[in-house]
Amino acid sequence: MKEEHRFYINGEWVKSSSNELIEIENPSSEEIIGTISAGTREDIDAAVASAKNAFQSFAFSSKDERVALLEEIIKNYEASSEDLAACISEEMGAPLWLSQVAQVASGLGHFKDTLGVLKDFEFESQENHYLVRKEPIGVVGMITPWNWPMNQMCTKIASALAAGCTMVLKPSEITPFCAVMLTEILDKSNLPKGVYNLVHGYGPVVGAALSEHPDVDMMHFTGSTRAGVAVAQASAPTVKRVAQELGGKSANIILEDANLEKAVAAGANHCFLNTGQSCNAPTRMLVHSSQYDEAVEIAKNVADSIVVGKPTDDGVRIGPISNRTQYEKVKRLIDIGVEEGATLVCGGNDLPDGFNSGFFIKPTIFSNVTNDMTIAKEEIFGPVLCMLAYESEDEAVSIANDTPYGLAGYVQSENFDHAKEVATKIRAGQISINGGSNAGPAAPFGGFKTSGNGREHGRLGLVECLETKAIIGN
Ligand code: NAD
Repeated sequence: MKEEHRFYINGEWVKSSSNELIEIENPSSEEIIGTISAGTREDIDAAVASAKNAFQSFAFSSKDERVALLEEIIKNYEASSEDLAACISEEMGAPLWLSQVAQVASGLGHFKDTLGVLKDFEFESQENHYLVRKEPIGVVGMITPWNWPMNQMCTKIASALAAGCTMVLKPSEITPFCAVMLTEILDKSNLPKGVYNLVHGYGPVVGAALSEHPDVDMMHFTGSTRAGVAVAQASAPTVKRVAQELGGKSANIILEDANLEKAVAAGANHCFLNTGQSCNAPTRMLVHSSQYDEAVEIAKNVADSIVVGKPTDDGVRIGPISNRTQYEKVKRLIDIGVEEGATLVCGGNDLPDGFNSGFFIKPTIFSNVTNDMTIAKEEIFGPVLCMLAYESEDEAVSIANDTPYGLAGYVQSENFDHAKEVATKIRAGQISINGGSNAGPAAPFGGFKTSGNGREHGRLGLVECLETKAIIGN
C-alpha cells in the first residue's frame, strides 16, 4: 500500500491539515493500492503563499538560470522513467509499453521542447517608440486529469517555469502517485523553494479554492468542459487568466481519395489507443457512403485483433478504463447507442473472455450512426468508435463541425492539397492529415468552441504564461 499523506509546499514535504483520505483503486484488479490526503482550503492558502513569496525573486531569474533548471529536470526525469511508467500503469491502467513510449515520454518531450523554445525566446523587443517586455504572469494554479497525467502536468510546469512563473499543482485525485514521483524529480532539480508546490485533493474543494484565490494570477486547467466552466466561474471575480483544455468529439474524415484500408485501420487504432481516453481521439469516423460497408469491415478487423488485458500482460494493446466512474459512464453510453438504433458491430458491455473483474471494455464499433445520436454528440472517453456515412464533402465538413466541441480533427487523403483544403474548413484547434504526428510536442494544442481557451505546448505554451508590458518614453 502506498500512503502519501503529505503535500509539497515551499520546498518541503508537509502534512495535510486534514485527516480525510482518498483511496486509489487499481482499475485492473479493483484493489485499493494506496491512499492520499484530501487537501483543504488551508493547504491551498499555504501553497499559494509559498508560490507568491517565491515569485518575488523567481520572476527576475535569468533565462540561463531557467535553462539550467529545465536541463536538470530532464536529467532526473530520464533517470526515473522506468519507475514512472510502472506507477502510471498501476494507477490508471495503461499498458506498460504505452506508459513507457507515450505516457512518460510525452512529459519528457514537453520539458525538452520547452527548453529549446526558451533558449531562442526573446523576452524584450524594441518597437519604433516603445519597448515591449514579456513578463511572467505570476502564480499559476494548475489542475490536471488522469488520462495522460504526465503529458498534462509536464507541459504546464515546463511552460510556467520557462516563463519565470511560480506554481501550485493540483493533480487528478485518480492518478496522484505519478504526481508525487514528478514532485520528487522536481525536488531533486534545484528549484528555488516555493517555485513549485503540490496539493492533492478533490476538484470542488481544493480545485475551487485555487481558482478563487486572489493571489493566483492564472488558472491552467485540463479536464472536462463541466469542471473547466466551474474553474472559469470561480476565477472570474479575481479577473485572472484562465487557460482551459477541455473535452472533444473529433471527426476523422476519410475522403474518397484516401487509401481506405490504411486510413480506416489507422483511425480505428488511434480511437482505441489509451482505451479511448484521449481528449483528441478521432471518435467519429466519417466515410463516403460508397465505401462505408467496406470501411466498417476494415474497422471491425482492427477491433477484433486488439488484445484487451492487464497492463503487464504480454501483447496487450489496451488496458482497462482508468476508474470506476468512467467505466460506468462508458457502459451507459454503449447501452444508449443500442437503444437509439445504432448497429453494434463489435464489442459491447460484456467483459472480455477470461475476465470477471476489472474495468475492461472491448473495442466497440457502432455503425449506422447519425450525428443526432447521443453517442455521436457526447464525449464517451472509452474505446468506442462511431462510424457515420456522408454523401458529399460539404456534408462531411458540416457533420464534423456539428458539435459544440472543437479540439481536433483528422483528414485522410492521398492528395495533401485536397486534405489541407478540407482541414481549413474544420473548426478545431489541431487538424492532423494522414495521421501526421511528426510535429512532436511543439505544435500548438487547444480548442475552439467549448473545447477550451488558450494554447499549450511549445512556443505558444510559454507565451500563455506571460504578460505583456509596454515601456514608453526615453
Ligand atoms: P474532470 O474534469 O472530472 O477532472 C479534471 C480535474 O479537474 C481533476 O483534477 C479534478 O479534480 C478537477 N476538478 C473537478 N471538478 C472541479 C471543480 N469544480 N473545480 C476545480 N477543479 C475540478 O475530468 P477527468 O475525468 O479527470 O478527465 C477527463 C476529461 O478531461 C475529458 O473530458 C477529456 O476530454 C478532458 N481532457 C482534455 C484534454 C485537453 O487537453 N483538451 C486533455 C485530457 C483530458
